[in-house]
Amino acid sequence: MTDPDLPVPADAGRSWWLREALARPEFEGEPAPPLDGDTTADVVILGGGYTGLWAALHLKELDPGADVVVLEQDICGGGPSGRNGGFVSSFWEDLPHLAEAYGDEMALRICRVGDESVTAIGAFCEANGIDAWFQADGALGVATSESQVGAWADQVITADRLEVGNDLEVLDAAAARARVDSPVVFGGVYMEHGATAQPARLARGMRRVAMEQGVRIYEGSAVTRFGAGSPSVAETPEGSVRAGAAVLALNAWAARMKRFRRAITVRGSYIVLTAPAPEKLDELHWTDGLGVSDYRAALHYLRTTPDGRIAYGIGGMQPNLARTIGPRFAYDERALRVAIADLHRMFPTFRGVPIDAGWGGPIDVSGAHLPFFGSFENGAVHYGLGYTGNGVGPAHFGGRILALRALGRYEEVLDLPFVDADPLRFPPEPIKSPGALIANTAIRRKDEFEDRGQAPNPLVDFVARLPRRLGYHLGP
Ligand SMILES: Cc1cc2nc3c(=O)[nH]c(=O)nc-3n(C[C@H](O)[C@H](O)[C@H](O)COP(=O)(O)OP(=O)(O)OC[C@H]3O[C@@H](n4cnc5c(N)ncnc54)[C@H](O)[C@@H]3O)c2cc1C
Repeated sequence: MTDPDLPVPADAGRSWWLREALARPEFEGEPAPPLDGDTTADVVILGGGYTGLWAALHLKELDPGADVVVLEQDICGGGPSGRNGGFVSSFWEDLPHLAEAYGDEMALRICRVGDESVTAIGAFCEANGIDAWFQADGALGVATSESQVGAWADQVITADRLEVGNDLEVLDAAAARARVDSPVVFGGVYMEHGATAQPARLARGMRRVAMEQGVRIYEGSAVTRFGAGSPSVAETPEGSVRAGAAVLALNAWAARMKRFRRAITVRGSYIVLTAPAPEKLDELHWTDGLGVSDYRAALHYLRTTPDGRIAYGIGGMQPNLARTIGPRFAYDERALRVAIADLHRMFPTFRGVPIDAGWGGPIDVSGAHLPFFGSFENGAVHYGLGYTGNGVGPAHFGGRILALRALGRYEEVLDLPFVDADPLRFPPEPIKSPGALIANTAIRRKDEFEDRGQAPNPLVDFVARLPRRLGYHLGP
């Protein structure tokens, strides 16, 4: 039976963001037909999301004469770069973890590099006339159950110790509700860092600028065989590119490659979008571009649109064993039903507001919850992935790292510990996929118990905490 509350699949799993963008000529842009025939390039980039497009744009900035080809299996922005929540963030929420892993000085440096990327993305949109709804109004972390209250203590104490505590404002329930009114908000932390954007407008705007700068983009061009060498050869169904350097910007799809199989595990994240209800947002006092997330282990992330909608996202979903990225990553009824119920729990006044769209996408989860970048031993193939749901901002400097590597140049960003890091490895199959599914399910159950004000069942609690006990920076 079809649930009447459930949004109808939209445009074969395209996100509302992408449909909204493609309806405008400036974001639809010039056609980029599939590669047809054999060609050569200085650099071939696999993947036309933010990482691939930033790498292309940085390459052109560093070396305007470079011949750069991007191969995208779908269209640019068809993947997570056109489906995400549009939170443009740095790493401040990871500050305690970063300080523990890399020391205080490096932790601050990472956060500042992340901030610079947030600012640079806004400046890029401004300079190139891309109306990507970029709003640097900061971010709000809220407790959506009593048990989450104080989950920010580590971040606040570490920020204070490192003398950057002024950037954070701890809010009691009344002060948090003054920013976003919900009966299940029990307090939180406001951070002045952070922005929101319309993700697909950003991706499509980047595509336009890259094409104007002479980057050759081929959409509908899945790389079916890749020979990593010098030159590297990327083969598509109708052609091939031979290039002196290659950039792998494949996000979750990199899990298909043997090299990355144990470096990431794939989860799903899903978003539902309400119809416009600006008068209801006024009642919630939520009229700015503030991005909101909570402190569940499988977090909720929510933001508004200029026409008064709420986009409500849920993380930590896994539609199946996730050994391949199938259609349920783009649209999963069960996940969307959970998202709708959670939206209504948080904002009961939105119960009568229609849901206009729902979609999802894969997340490239790394064991350290942080991206990693590097080069193959031959020095000619460079990769970046593992953003773990925080790639909109970081892909900007990630693209810089990859462009520098492809050109054999040096800038300080290459000294970040994410570069040439050996990613924490997940167990081999057949343990990895079922293990991740069991842990994810327990994590969600634990959150659900806590949402109801109950202590989780001890077995659920034990399994949910297992990834941390095993050394991964995942789960509670
Ligand atoms: C629902 C959802 C919500 C999210 N919300 C946020 C958020 O609010 N903030 C945030 O920072 N991050 C968020 N993320 C994560 C963010 O979207 C990603 O980290 C970011 O888009 C990564 O960019 P990318 O270019 O590395 O990957 P992608 O955008 O996935 O690009 C990789 C591209 O490679 C292409 N590709 C794959 N295989 C091949 C092949 N064989 N040949 C050619 N092309 C291929 C894919 O089609 C894809 O377009 C979210 C993700 C999802 C799914």
